[in-house]
Amino acid sequence: MTMANSSNQTSVIDSLRKEFKRIHEFRELILPFTHSAHIRRHRAKIIASRVGLMSLLFSLVIPLWIGIDYFAFSWPTWAILAVLRIVSAIVFFVLYILHSSCKTLPNAYLLLGGMMAIPPVFYLISQPFLMNVETNAFGAAVVSAYALLPFIVVAGLSVFPLTALEVLFTGSGIMVVVMLGAAQQAAFQLQDFITTIWLMVLVIGVSIFSGMSQLHYMISLINQASKDLLTGAFTRRSGEEYLDLQFRIASRTEVPFSILFMDVDNFKSVNDEFGHEQGDMVLKQVAERLQRCLRRSDQLIRWGGEEFVILLPNTSAEYIKPILNRLSEITLGKRPDGRPITISIGISELSLDRCEDWIEMVEKADHRMYEAKKSGRNKSVGPKPDLNLENIIAA
Ligand code: GH3
Ligand code: MG
Ligand code: MG
Repeated sequence: MTMANSSNQTSVIDSLRKEFKRIHEFRELILPFTHSAHIRRHRAKIIASRVGLMSLLFSLVIPLWIGIDYFAFSWPTWAILAVLRIVSAIVFFVLYILHSSCKTLPNAYLLLGGMMAIPPVFYLISQPFLMNVETNAFGAAVVSAYALLPFIVVAGLSVFPLTALEVLFTGSGIMVVVMLGAAQQAAFQLQDFITTIWLMVLVIGVSIFSGMSQLHYMISLINQASKDLLTGAFTRRSGEEYLDLQFRIASRTEVPFSILFMDVDNFKSVNDEFGHEQGDMVLKQVAERLQRCLRRSDQLIRWGGEEFVILLPNTSAEYIKPILNRLSEITLGKRPDGRPITISIGISELSLDRCEDWIEMVEKADHRMYEAKKSGRNKSVGPKPDLNLENIIAA
């Protein structure tokens, strides 16, 4: 009876945890500040490369339209538009040149904002000339095409992996431009105005949906490529990339950075006595419990087999002890025979160990982990004696 109760409780907790994860995934599609550094970096890269491609295309196509303006409008309208076109094409080309050096998300926002701002500015400047211009039927069609510019911009947002909030923010800005454009019109028609705004709301809605789908697709691709299937931890390959990045950030900004190297004790005996599948279950459980001890900014990497590395950015040696205490409270679950799973931990800290690169940091932590093994397992060995703890997991 008691066992049934406790297994019911576990399944309720598990499904609550799954629901929480789903809510979090949904939040990732709505709010931009919920993403991990890894996702932010990839998003910046994708946004910058798409801005680069689109900017290059626009910088080539926009001057070609001068020919159409020439046939649609008389002097000096077509010439004014031609100057506006050439200036826009130059700005687009500058954005194309800048895109390759864009590495961070704030820079990607600037690039995207710059690209998105050009057509509305063009629209606002050209609107007063085009409104009163006398033209033939072909010219009238071209004027209507110009009025569509803000809509094209909002629709263009849909090719970027953006959160709902980002599209809403940009879309609202462009909506203001449309309202200003409408206010400039000599013959203001309320009905036309309402239709225009309604159409804009619809286009923003579609772009929000499409941007979120792009983002969802991007996040799942990144997770698939960088996460280990069994444990959900980062793979060694993506982990090394992270390590390199975090090491460089910490060295440059002189903020603390620590890593833990962990190896499950006597794991081979689980495989030997209960089979590989049970061994896999144990690994999955260990990773899940370790994950629970960490903050969102920390990263769990499956270094190999039953070895894990944890990156602790912004963490000095004094804050490692609370993490180890949390680990001993949460525990790592049980082996199939009911005995607790234990691990041996080696710790290294950037400023105390004075490492030259991340490879040296990992080597130090690995070496200390072996010391922990040699001196009896279920221990931690660190750069300072107060991090050398015994019996991390109670027997
Ligand atoms: P120690 O306390 O000294 O670390 O002993 P150990 O038995 O944990 O160490 P050892 O390195 O001898 O054994 C590691 C085992 O982990 C050997 C390998 O078969 C097993 N292993 C590695 N990857 C996996 C995996 O993905 N699934 C399973 N089930 N076993 C794995
Ligand atoms: Mg090992
Ligand atoms: Mg082991």
